[in-house]
Amino acid sequence: MTADTFVLFGATGDLAKRMLFPSLYHLHQEGFLPDHLRIIACARSPRSHEEFRADVEASVRERGGKEIDHDLTPFLERVFYLSLDVTTPEGYDELSRIIHEGGCGKEVVYYLSTSPSIFGEVCRGLKSHGLADAPNRCVVEKPIGYDLESNIEINDTVAKAFSEERTFRIDHYLGKETVQNLVALRFANRIFEPLWNSETIKSVQISISETVGAEGRGGYYDEYGAMRDMMQNHLLQLLCLVAMEPPSSLSAEAIRNEKVKVLKSLAPITKDNVESKTVRGQYSEGFCPNGGQAPSYRHDVENPDSGTETYVAVAAEIQNWRWAGVPFYLETGKRMAERKTQVVIAFRPLPHSIFGQGVSENELHIVLQPEERITLQIMNKQPGLSAEGMPLEELPLNLSLVERNNGARRRIAYEQLILDALLDNPSLFVQRDEQEAAWRWIDSIADAWRERGMEPKGYRAGSAGPSAKHVLTERNGDSWYE
Ligand code: NAP
Repeated sequence: MTADTFVLFGATGDLAKRMLFPSLYHLHQEGFLPDHLRIIACARSPRSHEEFRADVEASVRERGGKEIDHDLTPFLERVFYLSLDVTTPEGYDELSRIIHEGGCGKEVVYYLSTSPSIFGEVCRGLKSHGLADAPNRCVVEKPIGYDLESNIEINDTVAKAFSEERTFRIDHYLGKETVQNLVALRFANRIFEPLWNSETIKSVQISISETVGAEGRGGYYDEYGAMRDMMQNHLLQLLCLVAMEPPSSLSAEAIRNEKVKVLKSLAPITKDNVESKTVRGQYSEGFCPNGGQAPSYRHDVENPDSGTETYVAVAAEIQNWRWAGVPFYLETGKRMAERKTQVVIAFRPLPHSIFGQGVSENELHIVLQPEERITLQIMNKQPGLSAEGMPLEELPLNLSLVERNNGARRRIAYEQLILDALLDNPSLFVQRDEQEAAWRWIDSIADAWRERGMEPKGYRAGSAGPSAKHVLTERNGDSWYE
């Protein structure tokens, strides 16, 4: 069934403005929203429907640019605003009335785009007013907790109102076209599977680098840092999709089962190996990639003593038959030289080269940002005559999703996720045991850092990260793909 009501808590927030309303608009515009679907937007700030609709229109136009030059009234008429403090019981009666107006509210999706510290209050409020019964479901934003313990606590509170199959945990990376394409690439093409193991693959590198700093997110970021903000979710999700066994189907359950196995196979990182397996960094003053000076992290978050990492690299190992001995290098950082998200699968060298020197190893690059692209680096004969041997060159077999999409608009990752939540399809959402397995591994690293007193190493804003990162790869005879 498809939901008839979408309730958005945190409707005046940054995420709602930049991502959620523009995504809802595009779903509306392309005919994916059921005609009768109403969007009930909730936050504390006082607003009339009209004022709020004007805010939504401004956000949608700002995000869409010149391409949105038409009247948005048909979309805006779906949107209703309710000023509600979720921590007090009063507003829920009014919410219930609005949800059930005109015979609606038979199937409701609640999107909790607020701080996780009030998820519990929202769930309690909905349950006590009879608003959380099946088939109603909830979507919860990350981060769900700061560590395993707080993750369990939040999930337990949500579970009192919504059963696991009605809890949709967002990792917006899973809504990205190229991330889904990773599943298609691996499991819709016969050619890759026989090569997808330690026999043929030498290393895997997964990097998410940002050019922005922590400005504007100071308080939150300074508490979480790169490990909890990025590694625990996006990087480990990408690692799972690269490393998991073929699932028996595309169902949420089948994919989740395979992802959990990967997470549980991650070799523990403890105080005995944390110094050789991880690098922690924090950016110092430097440059913005497009010119101008960039302040230090401590300046950005106004905390002169901050010991939070803005960069982390980990050499992970997956202890199973397929991947034994293959390093998975995971790296993420802020204020780096370029904005890039990519997975590089590096293949082993030839067992014997009949061409002598100059044969590079094959590499499969799956680039998610800045543009979506999949490239296989292959060796090719250099064209023309040669007096000696056969000179080779390395060329990319290039699948550019930008060209393939013929310049079509690049989708917001949330579009697919909101659509799936409305359609009650949980396959692109994160299940509870996956999240717990991820936190367990992350917590062990954080504990080991503490036990070893490992402080972040400095790196200049606008650089490629701390120089110590090279030791991590060189130890195995590898290097980073910048
Ligand atoms: P935000 O800008 O601080 O917005 C929080 C929203 O919650 C506001 O609409 C606020 O509205 C509302 N709110 C706060 N207390 C409330 C209460 N007691 N009752 C009702 N509404 C209340 O946060 P955000 O950046 O949009 O993030 C929302 C969630 O998404 C967080 O969990 C965040 O970690 C996650 N997230 C955000 C981003 C992002 O890019 N922003 C990315 C990934 C994940 P009023 O003040 O009007 O009540």
